[in-house]
Amino acid sequence: MNQSQPLLTIVVPCYNEEEVLKETISQLTFILDGLRKEELISDASKILFVDDGSRDRTWSLIAMESTNNDYVTGLKLARNVGHQKALLAGLEKAKSKSDCVISIDADLQDDISVIREFILKYHEGYEIVYGVRNSRDTDTFFKRATALGFYRFMNRLDINLVYNHADYRLMSKRVLEELGHYHEANIFLRGIVPLIGFKSTKVMYDRKERFAGETKYPLKKMLSFAWNGVTSFSVTPIRFITFLGFFLFFLSGIAGAYALIQKSFGDTSNGWTSLILSIWFLGGIQLVGIGIIGEYIGKVFMEVKKRPKYAIDIDLYTESLGQLQPLEKELLAEKKFI
Ligand code: UDP
Ligand code: MG
Repeated sequence: MNQSQPLLTIVVPCYNEEEVLKETISQLTFILDGLRKEELISDASKILFVDDGSRDRTWSLIAMESTNNDYVTGLKLARNVGHQKALLAGLEKAKSKSDCVISIDADLQDDISVIREFILKYHEGYEIVYGVRNSRDTDTFFKRATALGFYRFMNRLDINLVYNHADYRLMSKRVLEELGHYHEANIFLRGIVPLIGFKSTKVMYDRKERFAGETKYPLKKMLSFAWNGVTSFSVTPIRFITFLGFFLFFLSGIAGAYALIQKSFGDTSNGWTSLILSIWFLGGIQLVGIGIIGEYIGKVFMEVKKRPKYAIDIDLYTESLGQLQPLEKELLAEKKFI
């Protein structure tokens, strides 16, 4: 084994991915084999599948493959915690033993042939390599439009995102260690990684269609993801409310002056319409304001608790490194195939 080659771990979060897993494993294995033969990565490189509380056969597939295929190892989370946290679980696990880590979705919508380019960039000294989509032709019109809107909106709010980059990226060990210093509970990796800094670059690729299974990001999850991204990174919504307050203040000044002038001409009607309108209008504005402020208070509430983000049920990764005590090994063997 060539010790000087970097140990790569590919982290793959999986939620109900039984339909794609076999194909994903065989394609990633093929890529790793190639890279190893070229001596671009170490023989001990791994694919770490994080089972995010799947309800189908995802975990048993991972556990089974891990016994046949030396690259494959797994982490079973105790329940479904969502893509970002599942990914983080894998990254934190892989950190100790990897020189670099690539994160990718289980459905291989992101072109895995550019993994080689990621590694070449790493050899050139880049610490972060962002996979960036060339086009979104394969996405539905709806997904494309909402995603575009999302990037535009985030940019408006001064949140620095790499355009058309999802969670397909390479990070070096140093970056992962820095990432470990971000303790926020509402983790939004796409926003945090550019904040870390270090030498980074982009690699372009074409995004494909999911070859099996269906998206695990329905509209509801997408909206909550976007909303989370906004409120954990920006105070602009609160500023907007303040601005609105000033604007209304200005407006009511004008309206007040107008009313006084009308009165001085003796032209007063019974002001029911304006009264009821302003009650509704101001009531609405106030509620929006309180709601948004409440959102941030909720965030503070979640952050101060410092809750763990996930719990690991079964850890094949540590086993694959040969770091388990005999008793631990026995326990693991008992529950591995559930
Ligand atoms: N995923 C996850 N937990 C979830 C939802 C999704 O780990 O609660 C994983 C999923 O298995 C996939 C990745 O996150 O590997 C991205 O999901 P998907 O491909 O369905 O999203 P899309 O590409 O449609 O945005
Ligand atoms: Mg996908």
